[in-house]
Amino acid sequence: MRPEIMTRAEGLRRMCGFIPRAARYASQRNFDFGPGRRDHVSGLSAHIRHRLITEEEVARAVLAEHGYDAAEKFLQEIAWRTYWKGWLEMRPKVWSDCLSQLDGLGAADGLDGATGGTTGIDCFDAWVAELKQTGYLHNHARMWFASIWIFTLRLPWQAGADFMFRHLIDGDPAANTLSWRWVAGLHTRGKHYLARASNIARYTGGRFEPRGQLDESAAPLPPDADYPCGALEFPAEHTPAGRIGHLMLADDLAPPPGPVAASAGWHPSSAEELPPVVSPLVHAARAAAVDDAVKRSDGTCLTGELGQALRSWIANEQLDAVWLARPTVGPWRDLVMRLPADLSVVEFVRPWDRALWPHATSGFFKLRRMLPRFYRGSLFASP
Ligand SMILES: Cc1cc2nc3c(=O)[nH]c(=O)nc-3n(C[C@H](O)[C@H](O)[C@H](O)COP(=O)(O)OP(=O)(O)OC[C@H]3O[C@@H](n4cnc5c(N)ncnc54)[C@H](O)[C@@H]3O)c2cc1C
Repeated sequence: MRPEIMTRAEGLRRMCGFIPRAARYASQRNFDFGPGRRDHVSGLSAHIRHRLITEEEVARAVLAEHGYDAAEKFLQEIAWRTYWKGWLEMRPKVWSDCLSQLDGLGAADGLDGATGGTTGIDCFDAWVAELKQTGYLHNHARMWFASIWIFTLRLPWQAGADFMFRHLIDGDPAANTLSWRWVAGLHTRGKHYLARASNIARYTGGRFEPRGQLDESAAPLPPDADYPCGALEFPAEHTPAGRIGHLMLADDLAPPPGPVAASAGWHPSSAEELPPVVSPLVHAARAAAVDDAVKRSDGTCLTGELGQALRSWIANEQLDAVWLARPTVGPWRDLVMRLPADLSVVEFVRPWDRALWPHATSGFFKLRRMLPRFYRGSLFASP
């Protein structure tokens, strides 16, 4: 994947190309025939993750073409990201614990072989190369990859989550960290995901068959800390008075909820500035996404330390307040939490998240149960 594809125009092009195929998604989505042969999945995650296009837009387009029943599986999958995000919003300590555990990990035997793609397990080594080159892996490959990392190579799941986050253009603290925990058997306690050679052979169309190379009978990882579900606190829904600016960070590049006098985007100048550190490809892709949003809104690119850049922009534009889509748990949230309190930043949360996050308190099943009602509800009623 080239960083230049990180535009809204490319996201819309992919969405329009995929919509006619959305009804076939349920039966074909688990097959991974390799790069260039993945028409049966949407390839939209990098665009949705940065909200160059939104979940709501994609769902609306799919519903208009197919209706809920025919595209149910795809519409459920779109909601998985929302589930992970909502779940983590109510348990932010899972993210901070993962980062601090990562700091405390010593050099694990076999880590260099895994991250260098020289384990001798062909499929795994090929996925390492593909991930580094393209910034993408198919969902099933991500599941096999994480499972082999944890149960066959016996490496710490936190290091695997960090490796993927570093290289995925759609890298999402919630979807990534929690999927790794799910594979390990830590999300749904005692229920882990074991990669099997026969399953890999079947769903890669015979490209790989690591027979005899995988641990197909490993036990789930033992439970770690208890993470009780905290309260969800949404900012009040109100339009600030006076001249409003809109600040865009790569966590959410969709338009603001109302008209604004000025827009600006900010992106770190180096991959080290906003930890966890990401690969040059991911850094460039995020920068391209922010640039695209800035261009489309006829805005300004802020550079340097965010607090100072924001203060100068507010003064130059004579703004009374700055609207910001509240970043979800992860690096941008940590960054915004450090902004000086006097900067009049007013956060908002989009209706999609407000409606679905409260159903992410426990397993996905609880949220999935309300999806038929949600997709037939007021958010999707014709204007
Ligand atoms: C170990 C592991 C790590 C992952 N890390 C990330 C990550 O960092 N960022 C990320 O966006 N996704 C992550 N996923 C989820 C999923 O693999 C990708 O969203 C999906 O493969 C993207 O490809 P696509 O757009 O072609 O998906 P499609 O199959 O076409 O799905 C459509 C959309 O639904 C959403 N979606 C589908 N499946 C999932 C899922 N399981 N979780 C969350 N959203 C989903 C995505 O927005 C996706 O674009 C991870 C999964 C695993 C098993």
